[in-house]
Parts: sequence; C-alpha cells; structure tokens
Amino acid sequence: MSLSGAHPAFFGSLALSIGSRPNTQWQMTSEEACDYLDRVGEYRRGVPSGERSGLPGTIGLCVSGAEPFAQVDDLEILLECAARNNMMTEVVSTVFWVDSDATADRVLERFRKRLHVLTVLTSRGEVDRFGIAALDRLLLAARRHHLTFQIAIAVSPSEPFPKELLGLEVVNCDTSVMRVEPVLEEPRQGSVEWPQGYLLDAPPRYGRCAEMMGLVIVPGGDVYPCSSGIGFPQLRLGNLQKQTVREIVSEAMARTDLERLRNQGPFFLFEDWRSSDRPAPLAGGFLSSCDFHRRLLAHTAPAGIRAETATA
Ligand code: SF4
Repeated sequence: MSLSGAHPAFFGSLALSIGSRPNTQWQMTSEEACDYLDRVGEYRRGVPSGERSGLPGTIGLCVSGAEPFAQVDDLEILLECAARNNMMTEVVSTVFWVDSDATADRVLERFRKRLHVLTVLTSRGEVDRFGIAALDRLLLAARRHHLTFQIAIAVSPSEPFPKELLGLEVVNCDTSVMRVEPVLEEPRQGSVEWPQGYLLDAPPRYGRCAEMMGLVIVPGGDVYPCSSGIGFPQLRLGNLQKQTVREIVSEAMARTDLERLRNQGPFFLFEDWRSSDRPAPLAGGFLSSCDFHRRLLAHTAPAGIRAETATA
C-alpha cells in the first residue's frame, strides 16, 4: 500500500508493525518504530531545498500487524510521532477488537484526528469467525467519525468472496472502496485449485511497482522497498540500525534494478526468464506481478540464503 501517489521521488510510504511486548520477529516496540520515524523526519528536514531527497513532499505511514487497535497506547505514541514528522497515517486493522458499537466509537474517536486512512482487512474466514455485524459496526463507526476507509478482501480457492458484504449499506454505496486481493494458500502446492482462467500466464505488462514501493522497515531495522519484497535479500535496501537514512535512500536511488521495477514492474524480468532456458519452477500461473517476482526471487536467491517468505 502506498499513500504517496505518483511522486517523482523514490519512496512514498513507511510501513511499520508494532507491539508493546514483541513476541514474534514481525513486531517492534513503539519506541523502536518512533526512532525510525524521527530519523526519517530529521533526514527530510535536513535536505536543502532544491536537492532531491528521495522522499515525497508528504510521506505516508502505514501501521499494520499485531492488530494496532488492540494496542492503543503504542498506536497513540506512533501516530503522535508521525504527526510531529508531518506524515499522513494509515492503520491496517481487522474487526478482531470490535466487540460493540461503544468500543468501536471509543477507539476511533481517540484516533480520528491523527488517522487519515483506515484499511479494514477481511475474508470469508474472518466474516465466519467474527460475524458480518462486527464489520458493519466498525465501518459505520468509521463513517460516524468521518474517517476515510477502504476494505481489503483476501480471496483464495478456499476463501471465496464473502458476498454478504454487499448487503451492507455502508459497503454498497457510492463512497465505499473495496480492494480484492487474491492470496496464496500456504505452502504453494500443485494441489491448490484456482478457478480455471483465474491465474495469469504472465505478470501484467504494464504493472509498474511505483505505487507499491515505499520504505518498509521491519523489526531489527532492515529496510525493503515494498511489503511483498520483505525477506528477499536481493531487494533489501539496508539496515537502519547500522546505516543512516541518507545512506539507505542514496543507495536505493542509485539502484537501476529498482528504478526499472518502479517504472516498468517485473514484466521485463518475466521476458528475460522466458527467453532463457530455465527449468520450470515458475510454471503454474501467477496471481499478480508480485507473485511472479517473489517466486523468481525465491528461485534465484543467493546460495545459502533463503528468504523468509520464499515459499509464499
Ligand atoms: S513486483 Fe517485486 S518489487 Fe514490485 S512491488 Fe512486487 S515484490 Fe516489490
């Protein structure tokens, strides 16, 4: 996700996953996250006018993972930190924490002045688990508090589109935004049957990466250009615990492979791969440009290094 729009600069958004008591490798404390935000903000303020910073005029911060609204104190710290660095904010949430209208109102009221976009993740399984009423509650509360929201719906062969969503007035109206995201079931298996004709034979020719690229920081300080690229050493930009923001941004801007992906997407890699005499591990169709690229990256990862997400 990117809040950046079509900026001439390389980076458009920051993505962070927070947790007050990190218990997985995908969580970081709000203190660690804030430190990164302050450093990015300081870097941007320090770039002389007229010099290209590699950052857009307005940076968006995307907070996801570990259910941000279930950790409101940490989220508050992080959104304050974003505000003092003039960053737009997006929070990615499920309905996991929404047990009543009062809870939804209390939480959104607390954050409405610092939150610019709410993205609600759902799926067939989520609707079955928490009920369509919980989703309705959250979206109506977002509307009451004048929050911009979008709904991201994950679909897969065993998770069909939850059609009852369309019965909600807050969804079935002119102002709602829905994004359908096909996801792979883990692990990728030949036995997973997608509807015929659903998978792509090739990644989209004009699927640029620009809108999906940002500055994605994971716990420990590693930085990637996009969330789909997390864990792949070929895409890693650097580490904020060992390098300055300026060093990482400068190196990223100098990388022609990223510039080409940003402008063209990975279709050119597909053409290279197709014209070479490679074995067949990439056969079987693709869900998206990112799906193709991730599989290619997993296939070509340096010996001895296996990306954490390589099988996804
Ligand atoms: S295609 Fe590759 S570089 Fe582009 S957004 Fe997806 S994973 Fe990142």
